[in-house]
Amino acid sequence: MPVVHHRCRRTEQKAEELTNARSKNRQMGPNTLLAHGPYDPHSLHGFVNPPVIHASTVLFESTDAMRHRKSLPYTYGLRGTPTTKALEDALSELEGADETILVPSGLAAITVPLLAFLGAGDHCLVVDSVYTPTRQFCNGTLRRMGVEIAYFDPHIGAGIADLMKPNTKVVFLEAPGSNTFEMMDVAAVCAAARAGGAVTMLDNTWATPLYFRPIAHGVDLSIHALTKYPGGHSDLMMGSVSATAATAAQLRETQMQIGLNAAPDDVYLVLRGLKTMGVRLERHQASALELARWLERREDVAEVRHPALPSFFDHALYARQFSGCSGLFSFLLPGGFKQAATFLDALELIGLGYSWGGHESLAVAVDLSDRTVAKGPKDGTFIRLQVGLEDVADLKADLEAGFAALAATAGTAG
Ligand SMILES: *Cc1c(COP(=O)(O)O)cnc(C)c1O
Repeated sequence: MPVVHHRCRRTEQKAEELTNARSKNRQMGPNTLLAHGPYDPHSLHGFVNPPVIHASTVLFESTDAMRHRKSLPYTYGLRGTPTTKALEDALSELEGADETILVPSGLAAITVPLLAFLGAGDHCLVVDSVYTPTRQFCNGTLRRMGVEIAYFDPHIGAGIADLMKPNTKVVFLEAPGSNTFEMMDVAAVCAAARAGGAVTMLDNTWATPLYFRPIAHGVDLSIHALTKYPGGHSDLMMGSVSATAATAAQLRETQMQIGLNAAPDDVYLVLRGLKTMGVRLERHQASALELARWLERREDVAEVRHPALPSFFDHALYARQFSGCSGLFSFLLPGGFKQAATFLDALELIGLGYSWGGHESLAVAVDLSDRTVAKGPKDGTFIRLQVGLEDVADLKADLEAGFAALAATAGTAG
């Protein structure tokens, strides 16, 4: 049975009314967009949510239809289904993008665009506070392919122009910086990169499109680990790249050449996660900020890196560009990794684990040994906290146990 494309006239009218309403009402808030994503329930009998379509083969009406398949919306499972399209469209709308692709992990959402726009002999500039696996891909696969990689200071701003070479094809940004939260002047970097003929990419996982919209600041490709807040429940992995009209075709072409897309049940979970992402983020944000303020007042904490704190060195850069914070920040414990381990091992409620954006709180000790420019402090170890949806009083009590364990060992050491 044809599912989505053979719509009755009433349905088409309804869809047109919706489209008109959307284009007239450009002020619709992000939570309204999340609740009423661009998927039209009337395209399938009025069911509120899109169907989960499991597919490889798509049947054609005739050999002629097969020959002219470029004009058809769906031709093969890898190329997309109404399920993947519903999520792509929702993300494009949130990002203000022309098109979005889905891939099986956040890391693949970094590697696919880099492969799409770089080749042997090209030069690529990468922010030094980048997510460590991004650096590993650049230093490993890209260098092996013959791409020249250089890392730059997150605070470089318009000064990036001095690093641009005639063969600079990509400038890769992440804001805030991974684990250390340095903010960037995104528009200044992108304007200089564009003037030099480079494509810009920004890993926007921390802010989500609710708190930062990179394309409005001049970025060409906005990258997300959907694994984090869009999924929101630590039970799936996925990534997305949202692209401008000028970059979308090359991105999509590379995705298809490599042969990556996202699996239908996971796509459905992300669509479901998006419906509550706004309210979840409000809670993550409020709880994280409360904990950050509490940690900032403690004598046993050397520094708190949370962009919304006025004491944070890049607070002004944050406030000018972002409309909110998610639930991830770091604080500096005096001492080395041994002290950090004592603190972390005393936590019971807050789990020790990678990733973030889920319902449960997590902590890790940050390793900054790979940094070349944006190095960590000489003394102390950063603890990165992912603040989940628990009650803040319980999280404070757990952190108190960590501080108490630390104080106890400091006491025995004399
Ligand atoms: C987690 C993360 C990724 C990678 O996402 P995965 O789905 O775990 O591969 C990419 N960028 C940032 C900033 C992340 O935190």
